[in-house]
Amino acid sequence: MAMSASPNKNLKIGIVGFGNLGQFLAETMIKQGHSIHATSRSDYSDLCIRLGIVFFRDTDAFLEADSDVILLCTSILSLSNVLESMPLKSIRRPVLFADVLSVKEHPKDVLLQVVPEDCDILCTHPMFGPRSGKDGWKGLAFMYDKVRLRDEATCSKFLNVFRTEGCKMLEMTSEEHDRLAAKSQFLAHTIGRTLSEMGIKSTCIDTKSFETLLQLEESSGQDSEDLYKGLLTYNRFAKQELKNLVDAIQKVRDRFFEEEEH
Ligand code: NAP
Repeated sequence: MAMSASPNKNLKIGIVGFGNLGQFLAETMIKQGHSIHATSRSDYSDLCIRLGIVFFRDTDAFLEADSDVILLCTSILSLSNVLESMPLKSIRRPVLFADVLSVKEHPKDVLLQVVPEDCDILCTHPMFGPRSGKDGWKGLAFMYDKVRLRDEATCSKFLNVFRTEGCKMLEMTSEEHDRLAAKSQFLAHTIGRTLSEMGIKSTCIDTKSFETLLQLEESSGQDSEDLYKGLLTYNRFAKQELKNLVDAIQKVRDRFFEEEEH
């Protein structure tokens, strides 16, 4: 029988991977009154002291901290290794494993393989981050897939972290997410990185459309290369979208060159 977090109690959330997104989410969770502890490859002890969070260098001690939710905020590329290095079998009671990776089929597959049978799995993707969510989360999309659930109460409390901030809550399968994200988020990242490769710069006669491109270039430059590589490698629909983009540029070029020749 799964043990639920009591409805009147705030959640104990253990964050694995305390980089940009882990810190950003922790801030709001702390504000909501949840109790946060964290572990990460790098040492965030000083930052955590300032935030009032317990930081564990040792993953054994982290897992013994009796979490309601273990929230995975690692890079896409490192998820498997990070989970393999954690003694998950030592968890003493059923826990909800949730992740926030920007691809969904990959963590779903990995979590189904490694998470103890009596623990639940919720795959999620906040469609925003420290920049787009800096002025609040109202109206921003939050995707989730209830992969394996027995303890609905803890899951619902966790989803309320985002619901109460005004996020647009979207339940869909991990496959549907990856299909749509390849055609939207991945395309935006690809074009941003391409513009960056071209070294685009503001001019004294920028149009509004060009300002949009500059913003796209700037925002994708602030995301880690690991994030882009993760999207390309672990979203099985991404490579086709990259090909579609390259083909489309080629088609536009060919069409107008042809017109010029006639
Ligand atoms: P990221 O570069 O994708 O991930 C950084 C995190 O991964 C850090 O916690 C880092 O640990 C950890 N990490 C990286 N390589 C590792 C390794 N070899 N071994 C162990 N840990 C490793 O940047 P992020 O922006 O913080 O994103 C975190 C996750 O959230 C990603 O899965 C991303 O897809 C997802 N996400 C990001 C955004 C966003 O706007 N940034 C939005 C939604 C979802 P240390 O810091 O300890 O080195």
